[in-house]
Amino acid sequence: MGAEIIYGKELAQELRLKMKQEVSELKNHGITPKLTVVLIGEDPASKSYVKGKQKASEYVGVDSDLIELPTETSEQSLLELIDKLNQDKAVNGILVQLPLPNHIDEQKIIEAIDPSKDVDGFHPVSVGRMLTGKETFLPCTPLGIITMLKSKHISMEGKHAVVIGRSNLVGKPVGQLLLNENATVTYCHSRTTNMNEVIKMADILIVAVGKETFIHGDQIKKGAVVVDVGVNRSENGKLVGDVDFDSAKDKASYITPVPGGVGPMTITMLMHNTIQSAKLAHAKR
Ligand code: NAP
Repeated sequence: MGAEIIYGKELAQELRLKMKQEVSELKNHGITPKLTVVLIGEDPASKSYVKGKQKASEYVGVDSDLIELPTETSEQSLLELIDKLNQDKAVNGILVQLPLPNHIDEQKIIEAIDPSKDVDGFHPVSVGRMLTGKETFLPCTPLGIITMLKSKHISMEGKHAVVIGRSNLVGKPVGQLLLNENATVTYCHSRTTNMNEVIKMADILIVAVGKETFIHGDQIKKGAVVVDVGVNRSENGKLVGDVDFDSAKDKASYITPVPGGVGPMTITMLMHNTIQSAKLAHAKR
């Protein structure tokens, strides 16, 4: 018997429909959530992500503004723009699409965003609040993963969760959210020496490495829950994850596909955070 597939795409659609209804209600009360996306340069992947975010905003009813700037944009002028957006009461969420050109210090930009508009959940204040289990904007991909697991009533408490990858964007925060759900968490990364032993112990395996077919079915424990975060272009141009889906689905109890798994959930969580931000801003007035 194969694993049950967790279709993030379907769940994302379900959630977006609910959000659409919620936003329509909010608008009746004079609240229109607004997200401003800043895109610097011509990176095709970034352009495509931004397009996805705009499409989702449009569907949900979130006001979305795209500011496109040339690659040569200076760090100073980007900081000034963020300052302006921080002060703009109509803007609830500020998202600067990463990666930024090399001459701009990414961390400096992230830290310039007002934490109350940090819908990406990357600001150190948001990260610190997540770490201490306080209410905050949670980073979208990790939050999307936890939402997918919860949608299938997969219990995390007491389970051994193994996260492969330790980026600030995905690996580290998803491990933290699993810990907040009372899982026992182990991280693997490029310096891990006994990775196969660790992977075999995983009840829940999160793979966020960025390498095609990095994990095969024979490496995982029977009945493991496998979440594939990877987004890679295979030689024939197809979008593939980090997990060899066919072999893993015969061993796993649940598995997420690529495409149609974690990806659509990420943007949906961005909508969630923007709506929350609008509600919080309104409550403060
Ligand atoms: P990243 O910053 O490149 O991090 C990759 C991580 O994998 C690093 O921690 C690295 O370890 C680890 N790693 C690399 N080679 C390894 C090896 N041989 N063994 C064990 N660990 C290894 O990437 P990221 O931003 O976290 O993204 C990971 C993947 O998720 C990418 O494919 C990305 O496109 C995808 N992604 C998808 C979504 C979505 O919405 N679906 C969102 C974000 C990212 P070190 O730290 O030791 O170098």
